[in-house]
Amino acid sequence: MISFENTEIAFRIKNNTELKQSYLLFKTLASNTLVKAGSVFTNAALKVGLPISWAVKPTIYKHFVGGETIESCTKVVNLLGDCNVKSILDYSVEGHHDAASIENALAETLRTIENVAKEPNIPYAVFKPTAFATSEVLEKAAQNLQLDNHEKLELEAFKHRIDILCKRAFELNTPILIDAEDFVYQNLFDEVLFEMMEKYNTKAAIVYNTLQMYRTDRFDFLKNSLEKAKTKNFIFGAKLVRGAYMEKERERASKLNYASPIHPDKESTDKHYDKALEFCIENIDRIHLFNGTHNEKSCILLTQLIEQKGLAKNDPRIYFSQLYGMSDHISFNLAVEGYNVAKYVPYGPIKHVLPYLIRRAEENTSVKGQTGRELNLIMREMNRRKKST
Ligand SMILES: Cc1cc2nc3c(=O)[nH]c(=O)nc-3n(C[C@H](O)[C@H](O)[C@H](O)COP(=O)(O)OP(=O)(O)OC[C@H]3O[C@@H](n4cnc5c(N)ncnc54)[C@H](O)[C@@H]3O)c2cc1C
Repeated sequence: MISFENTEIAFRIKNNTELKQSYLLFKTLASNTLVKAGSVFTNAALKVGLPISWAVKPTIYKHFVGGETIESCTKVVNLLGDCNVKSILDYSVEGHHDAASIENALAETLRTIENVAKEPNIPYAVFKPTAFATSEVLEKAAQNLQLDNHEKLELEAFKHRIDILCKRAFELNTPILIDAEDFVYQNLFDEVLFEMMEKYNTKAAIVYNTLQMYRTDRFDFLKNSLEKAKTKNFIFGAKLVRGAYMEKERERASKLNYASPIHPDKESTDKHYDKALEFCIENIDRIHLFNGTHNEKSCILLTQLIEQKGLAKNDPRIYFSQLYGMSDHISFNLAVEGYNVAKYVPYGPIKHVLPYLIRRAEENTSVKGQTGRELNLIMREMNRRKKST
């Protein structure tokens, strides 16, 4: 069975100074109070235009983000690539929906697709569909509400943009992952992405939809997707994640008085995540799998499923992925064993990636959870290095 315990492998790209910086960062993130205060301060500073990059850039930004532009991520991409860990450059500009930002996001995403075609260390492109229309139109369309003429045009323009991106990915034979965000939009995205898969996934999985397995309906959705793929003769690209918006979804459901779409507890999310992994491997001829998780058990399970099915560790239909700056012990140990691994490497100007960074900080505040694990591993590696000198 694969082990993720080898910290020498896990931190091989970090020198002692960088390791110490990671230690201090996760120590800070472990404090709920500090993270809450930091998030409030950062949001307020942004609103009034206070410069905050001096504090953010050398610390949390450096740890979780590849750079401001595609080109400035090259150093990180090469560093990871030397260890057989690939990169997925994620233009992480969130929450900007005016016409200029939409056009800019489209042009930038096209550049990332073209970059995948040129760069052997980057196996996928990625985008967030909410970057390509206003949230009002997406929400109304996802709920099949009546749109006025202007909104209808906006919806058509949105679908056209998604088609431009998927078509370009198809022409260049570069797979593209489409992130999932709030539940309220996903119906629309599912519908559009089925159309894209029918068009572009006839020979290989180019277009990947994201299934947030914390949703109670997603396992059935996966089964139905397989049926659709068989009937319409396409390959279903499945990016599995547990889901990043649990609290927001629960709050919204309770405020608007509808049943929460999220599993009642972590155990049921985990159970459905692992069931989905099994289902994908059973149907690997029709479903290509991108396993986006920091959960060690799910990663171990996938390595076992690969073996049981008699597949090669580096079967091109299966990828493991973790976020840049998190769970290096999983990524690097998997890569050493010969599995396909890629880090999601966000990039973008500091000001625009802050929502992403705040999510990472908040997600990392629990000492019991991710941060405790990261800190423990970093301390073990620091001790190991001390002893070996
Ligand atoms: C490469 C990659 C790409 C990603 N892309 C997306 C994306 O497109 N969309 C997206 O939403 N997220 C995305 N994420 C984030 C992901 O959804 C998770 O939030 C994050 O990875 C933590 O889950 P885990 O499986 O890594 O770890 P774990 O620590 O095992 O799981 C934590 C997750 O379990 C679930 N959970 C926790 N407590 C409960 C509870 N009480 N009840 C029910 N469920 C619970 C939540 O989903 C929580 O995030 C991505 C993550 C990675 C690594």
